Amino acid sequence: MSDHPSTEHREVIIIGSGPAGLTAAIYTARANLTPLQFEGYQRGGQLMLTTDVENYPGFRDGIMGPELMDEMKAQAARFGTEIVSKDVERVDFSERPFRVWVEGTEHRADTVIVATGATARLLGIPGESEMMGRGVSTCATCDGAFFREKLIGIVGGGDSAIEEANFLTRFGRTVYVFHRRDELRASKIMQQRAFDNPKIEIVWNTVVREVLGEEKVTAVRLRDTQTGEERTTDLDALFVAIGHTPTSAFLGGQLELDENGHIVTQGKSSRTSVEGVFSCGDCQDHVYRQAITAAGSGCMAAIDAERWLESQA
Ligand code: NAP
Repeated sequence: MSDHPSTEHREVIIIGSGPAGLTAAIYTARANLTPLQFEGYQRGGQLMLTTDVENYPGFRDGIMGPELMDEMKAQAARFGTEIVSKDVERVDFSERPFRVWVEGTEHRADTVIVATGATARLLGIPGESEMMGRGVSTCATCDGAFFREKLIGIVGGGDSAIEEANFLTRFGRTVYVFHRRDELRASKIMQQRAFDNPKIEIVWNTVVREVLGEEKVTAVRLRDTQTGEERTTDLDALFVAIGHTPTSAFLGGQLELDENGHIVTQGKSSRTSVEGVFSCGDCQDHVYRQAITAAGSGCMAAIDAERWLESQA
């Protein structure tokens, strides 16, 4: 790892250091492309905020999220990735070589892989951050299995919340959906599944005001959005599913984005709207959003970049 990249012009610059960016680094480094990776001040992506990861293949007893990211980083470094712990401020993809600015310094590259991930939106209520990984979660697929026969709550009324509520009924005794309005935003088919599921109870016109508990979540404080009345209800887990924000604003509109800000990739590839710029992981995927799918797409981006560089030679 270094603070001062040794050369200005690279074949590959990778922006981001979650499973997607680090897998892209491992593959491009092993292809002798000596990638320069800007991992950001908050390295490692969303797995740095989780505890046990039980669904990443290869770890039969599970692995802690931060430990998994440490391993990936060490693996990327072992093959020669130069990793810089700084954020990219802006880019210029209008001509080649592409340009990337970090703390005012310009770096140039023949190809850029954007793997900047996404951030789960949070409610910003007391207890939420403190209890993250101790009953509060933003990923039902990752953490649902920890709450067998427990009381589970989920916040949100969109497709994510309703899909995850249905999924969580595999584990929970009861799954409460706390929604701030009297109508769901989710697609009709998804709604019907929730209405038909006897384990799901939709708590209408309700916002969560506070997460309660010492070592782990024990209850939440709720407020009725119509009457203003407040009450406390016992709960073992609270899943927050109010959407994700992809990290794409720093691109300054130079790559095509969808309406939610995700980078648009073409077909079954990591190609973006700019030839020579590739993208992988949650900044371009709002459907799967798993560490393993992000890592897989990082591999795709590395192979796409490598082949594209060869085609330019
Ligand atoms: P979303 O559609 O933006 O829904 C967010 C939900 O969270 C809304 O119901 C919203 O309430 C609620 N919400 C937002 N901020 C809140 C706050 N501060 N407090 C309480 N509630 C809050 O996000 P999403 O469900 O993650 O879906 C994102 C996109 O992915 C959508 O296009 C969706 O269709 C798609 N998606 C599709 C599938 C699928 O087809 N299988 C699965 C998941 C996601 P309001 O309704 O009152 O605004």
